[in-house]
Amino acid sequence: MSIQSHDDFIQQERRRRLAAERLLAQKSNELLEANRQLATHADKLSYTVIEQREENATLAGENQKVLAHLDLATKQAGKAEQRLWDSLEAIGDGFAVYDRNWCLVAANRHYMRLFEGIEDVGLGAPYDLVLQVLMDEGLVDIGDANPDDWVDEMLARWENRPVQTTVIKLYNGRSIQLQDKVSSDGGMVSMCTDITESLEREAAMREARDAAEAANRAKSAFLAKMSHEIRTPMNGVVGMAELLLESELTNEDQIYAETIRSSGESLLVIINDILDFSKLEADKMEFRPEPMDLEVLLLELLRLSEASLDGKPVNLALHYPIMGQTGFITDQGKLRQVLTNLIGNAIKFMPEGHVTVDVDPGTPDAAGRSMVKITVRDSGIGIPDEMQAHIFGEFNQVEDEMNRKFEGTGLGLAITKGIVERLEGTLTVASDLGKGSHFTVTLPLEVDLRSSSPTALPPAPRTLALCGYHGPTAEFLTNELASLGVRVKTVTPDEIADLDTDAVFICTCLPEAVQIQISEVAPTDLPIICVGTHAHTPKQLAARCKAHLSWPTANADLRTVISAIQPRQPSQSDTAPLETLRMLAAEDNMINQFVFQKMLKAVEMDLTMVENGRHAVEAFLDLKPHIIFTDISMPEMDGMEAAREIRKLEAEHGLPQTPIIAMTAHAMEDDEDRIKAAGINHYLTKPFKKSALMDALHRFAPSEINLTQPDEG
Ligand code: ADP
Repeated sequence: MSIQSHDDFIQQERRRRLAAERLLAQKSNELLEANRQLATHADKLSYTVIEQREENATLAGENQKVLAHLDLATKQAGKAEQRLWDSLEAIGDGFAVYDRNWCLVAANRHYMRLFEGIEDVGLGAPYDLVLQVLMDEGLVDIGDANPDDWVDEMLARWENRPVQTTVIKLYNGRSIQLQDKVSSDGGMVSMCTDITESLEREAAMREARDAAEAANRAKSAFLAKMSHEIRTPMNGVVGMAELLLESELTNEDQIYAETIRSSGESLLVIINDILDFSKLEADKMEFRPEPMDLEVLLLELLRLSEASLDGKPVNLALHYPIMGQTGFITDQGKLRQVLTNLIGNAIKFMPEGHVTVDVDPGTPDAAGRSMVKITVRDSGIGIPDEMQAHIFGEFNQVEDEMNRKFEGTGLGLAITKGIVERLEGTLTVASDLGKGSHFTVTLPLEVDLRSSSPTALPPAPRTLALCGYHGPTAEFLTNELASLGVRVKTVTPDEIADLDTDAVFICTCLPEAVQIQISEVAPTDLPIICVGTHAHTPKQLAARCKAHLSWPTANADLRTVISAIQPRQPSQSDTAPLETLRMLAAEDNMINQFVFQKMLKAVEMDLTMVENGRHAVEAFLDLKPHIIFTDISMPEMDGMEAAREIRKLEAEHGLPQTPIIAMTAHAMEDDEDRIKAAGINHYLTKPFKKSALMDALHRFAPSEINLTQPDEG
């Protein structure tokens, strides 16, 4: 080889070596880099491994816990199941579970006890087989029924939804109630309860209740009988005492007779209160709604109260809206009792003053019921605040010096409240000690749609003066009449002589001398309308009266009188002679006959007195009486039978119906219905007072009859 080529070769070798060295260096760097990355990755991996290991450790711990919980839960579930079965065993009832194919899957001992020794009935036994075994072994007493039918019925029962509860009777007389329920998986859960004892208890309770009811009925009947038995002789006692008081008596005898009368009356009040209270207590008070006129009822009560004031200076007033609804449907007798007690108390607990009954007849709702509010106000002794709730309790009274001057049983308000509450109403009191009280009854009353509504006055400008009216009554009348278009002014007697009104209402409560003076000075063309009791109108004024309105005044009468008021015209008295009253009365008891005649001695009349119903019927056609009074219990023919016969005679002879008023000692609920069904218009409960008899006479005697009572003015 030449030197040249040798150098070239070395050159080439150097270059190759250099290239190889560069490549080596590069590869070394790459290796280094790869190593570094590997180290970083290894680092990361080792962290991940550590984390994973930690996680695994945590999971392993959790797993242990879950296993522990599961174990605990399984134990608890086992315990709960055991407890459940223990409980199911502990209850005295049979319990069984059937699957959706109605095969027995579980049952407690009580359920299985019935099948003891019967191999066929065990877990897996179908229900129809269980029923069949019950029949075959005579375990259920089905009486005369067919066993196959019974099995079919029991299977059909399980088909129904919900499954009806039933009771079966076992061979040993015990009664088992079966209650079966479909479970969520379509199976049946069956509960069998031995109800023998509770059925026996129920039967015993039924017996005890029947016995108690019978005893209560016996008590009511006894009370009714007792009240009847006591009332009849009391009629004689009270009536005779009243007559005795009208005769010439020495002062001492007067006191004796007065004591007999008032003691008799007190005794009657007590008897009636106890009778009512025991009826309320035994829930035996019956309510018979009937159409009634509230205004008429209140007028009647106030007039009766007026008659019983015995000179006590008490003014009674009724404020019934002139165009207000008066016809309602309720138990009139009970409402009368409520109002009688409130008005009676108002008068009783007041030496003198005013008693006013305010009525708000309400407005009918869609169901035709009105909230009727009746307030009885008095200006009496009042009731202390702390006693206002107390007085509604039975036998509760205000025990203070002022109060105990007045008699009473303390039962009245308890009875009144009881009745009001049974009529679904409320009774409240408000009172100012020493100034007076007011009791308010609020009752939901059905409006009597058949009752006539008040007729409006013919339109005419009228002016009217009121003389002798005071306070709230004057105000009430003025407002009410103003609503009818009548201009009203209140005047004193001195102003009468110069009155320019179309008419004047004079209250007969004014002193007699003042009324006489009015009659003398009143312009002759001024129509005078006297308002109040006839007895209080002096003859001079009576002669000048164009009309006489009773007080409290019925709104219908007031409207009639006002309608007739014309511009001043002289009065014309009606002088047509009046017919004399023909009365037929039937009463078997001599003493009561005597009392009756004496009570009516002031009435001008032809009285025919007979001693039984038969004689009354026989006398009827000849006499054609204007009015008949009859006792109920009489020999041969009683009052009810006589009334029925008389009604027949009237129908046969085309005669108008004669008012028949019964006089009865009975006080029971159903008497009223029977009396009315016999065609009797009204009844008086013995013993009745002269005022009640006179009231009935005035109410039922034909208006064209002369009822003057010469000795009473
Ligand atoms: P009685 O009137 O028979 O005592 P009540 O039950 O009717 O029984 O009344 C209970 C009590 O309530 C009365 O005794 C009386 O103290 C009081 N009381 C009732 N109404 C009034 C009244 N209008 N004014 C004052 N006190 C009254």
